[in-house]
Amino acid sequence: MMTDFESIIQSVYESVKNGDNKGEVASYIPELKDVNPEHFGACLSTIDNRVFGVGDFQKTFSIQSIVKVFSLCMAYRISGQKLWKRLGVEPSGNPFNSLVQLEADNGIPRNPFVNAGAIVICDILLSVLPDAHKDFLTFMRDISDDDSVNYSERIASSEKSAGYRNVALCNFIKSFGNIHNEPEEVLDFYFRICSIEMTCEGLSKAMLFLANGGRKTTDKRAIMNPSQAKRINAIMQSCGHYDESGEFTYRVGLPGKSGVGGGIAAVHPQDFSILVWSPRLNARGNSHRGMKFLEEFTTASQCSIF
Ligand code: GLU
Repeated sequence: MMTDFESIIQSVYESVKNGDNKGEVASYIPELKDVNPEHFGACLSTIDNRVFGVGDFQKTFSIQSIVKVFSLCMAYRISGQKLWKRLGVEPSGNPFNSLVQLEADNGIPRNPFVNAGAIVICDILLSVLPDAHKDFLTFMRDISDDDSVNYSERIASSEKSAGYRNVALCNFIKSFGNIHNEPEEVLDFYFRICSIEMTCEGLSKAMLFLANGGRKTTDKRAIMNPSQAKRINAIMQSCGHYDESGEFTYRVGLPGKSGVGGGIAAVHPQDFSILVWSPRLNARGNSHRGMKFLEEFTTASQCSIF
């Protein structure tokens, strides 16, 4: 694809920066509420390893739920199809931390990107990995080609101190028999993976294997097979933006995943991955300027998948 990403990214960035910066920074995790709401950056990485960054694309931020893409990849790679006995692949239509559906669904979360599903994924990883905390970090460092990627103990313990809903979710799922380890152990792992801090540049590079049929673009190793990568992209498309996944598909038209730290990751299969970060969130928990940026970007570049 010979699109002029450099000038498109630059002009979309200027246009969105000059517009409004509405919404609120996430405050239910105490450590997140002090972030400067004016931060704004984006980075696009292509599968032929060109990188186009703008604004605060080299500042670290809390990746939060974007990590759920990577924990899903790791669990799917290890467990294959039997993963889907423990959770589904349907959009939930409910907020990310909702408890209501679980009752009717007998403790089987709708998908791996709502908190309930991500907690079940953490339980699976704890059961199958010799040292889940260490092994997950090794996986993140491997796909990022960056040994400095790390958990933030500050953010993890901040979330733990106020994570009442996630505690409720985990115990509730356990009551249906769909959590096999001790809830406290599962939650410690969940809070830790959500606490990872990365830059737009680092995350866009880490996502690239999903644009490249499951294969890293640097050392060319397969992280997963093409069919698995296709399915992860499909789940991002239908479930990646809380109960605004339909709106994201309508406005942006790329598989993607957002986090309450204000990051949004998106993938264009066979071409690139793109990361945008701006901390103010709309009412559904997605970055306000992030959504606008990606909408204007896919319009200007004609790079939606539709
Ligand atoms: N750690 C956050 C939570 O569990 C992640 C939420 C998100 O980014 O969607 O509430």
